[in-house]
Amino acid sequence: MTRDVFVVVECKDSKPRKASFELLSIGREMASRFSSTLFAVVLGSGLTDAADAVASYAGKTILVDNASLAEYGWDTYGSVLESILKKYEPMVVLGTSSVTGKDLFPRVAARLAAAMVSDAVGVDIAGEGVKIRKPLYGGKVISWLAPKTDSTVIVTFRPNSFAVADAGEKGEIIEETAAVAGNPAMKTLSLERKTSGKVDLQEADFIICGGRGMKAAENFAMLDEIADLMGGRTGASRTVIDSKWRDYEDQIGKSGRTVSPKLYIGCGLSGALHHIMGMDTSKVIVAINKDPNAPIFQYADYGIVDDVFAVLPALKDELKKTREET
Ligand SMILES: Cc1cc2nc3c(=O)[nH]c(=O)nc-3n(C[C@H](O)[C@H](O)[C@H](O)COP(=O)(O)OP(=O)(O)OC[C@H]3O[C@@H](n4cnc5c(N)ncnc54)[C@H](O)[C@@H]3O)c2cc1C
Repeated sequence: MTRDVFVVVECKDSKPRKASFELLSIGREMASRFSSTLFAVVLGSGLTDAADAVASYAGKTILVDNASLAEYGWDTYGSVLESILKKYEPMVVLGTSSVTGKDLFPRVAARLAAAMVSDAVGVDIAGEGVKIRKPLYGGKVISWLAPKTDSTVIVTFRPNSFAVADAGEKGEIIEETAAVAGNPAMKTLSLERKTSGKVDLQEADFIICGGRGMKAAENFAMLDEIADLMGGRTGASRTVIDSKWRDYEDQIGKSGRTVSPKLYIGCGLSGALHHIMGMDTSKVIVAINKDPNAPIFQYADYGIVDDVFAVLPALKDELKKTREET
């Protein structure tokens, strides 16, 4: 086995996602620490430009461009990734803890009998090997895991776990022609893609999240306005989704998306553990709740004990003023 570091690049609309550049940035540090090579792996169809974009971060970029990979499928992507990893035998494989990543990597790890750490938020490479930082129990416990590196280790990280470094010298692009083995028992008949035009919830730097305390679907317009002013996204608790005030794609928490924005503002939500599990690694947490004993305040860096309908209009006006001044 080599000591190389692989980053599996995730693309949206044929462009590498920001989270992949974060992984390439930390991957470059890791490869330099291990005196090895950072590889970017780009799988899909029509991704020559994407491979070009990441080549300035990686020593080598492996591109598998195949029409059978036009749409994601765990069987097709899994078979290709498995054969690439078997061929190159990297020490560490980094992927994004996204909906796709959560589906793909554990399956590939099982096929390779590789160690798997999912949903991590940090890494320590100062000593021997790698130490992975992973929150447990909704952030109440931070675990440090030191997987054995005598065989491949696959780690998925939450988006926004690392800063994006500047691009470097452009590395070599290697075109691989791995065979795509689909599952004959499964066939995709059609795909309906939702196009919201909004910033991806998991990649947003700013999230304003509403809970049951927002009282009604129409009151989320205020959160959307604030999100737009800040260039971010509106999120919601599960209660809100169950009440059909917002779509599931906005849900943050154990059964929704896991987010790590630079700033998270929770409005009229209690801070139930199932919600906290999806946002506890946000860099700065602000809570607005009229109940001073709401659990969310235990996790908040700043807390406002007040009615959301008093605080939010004032916040929106202040933001508008600041935007007009700049
Ligand atoms: C298996 C499982 C998975 C789950 N997954 C998720 C998940 O992914 N995401 C998730 O969010 N939940 C999830 N839940 C549900 C979770 O346990 C909570 O029930 C839910 O998060 C509570 O939502 P909430 O905070 O909006 O509502 P509540 O708990 O009812 O809190 C409402 C809060 O609003 C405050 N409030 C009311 N009016 C105002 C006002 N005018 N101004 C200021 N504050 C006000 C109240 O003081 C209260 O604290 C899951 C539950 C289970 C069992």
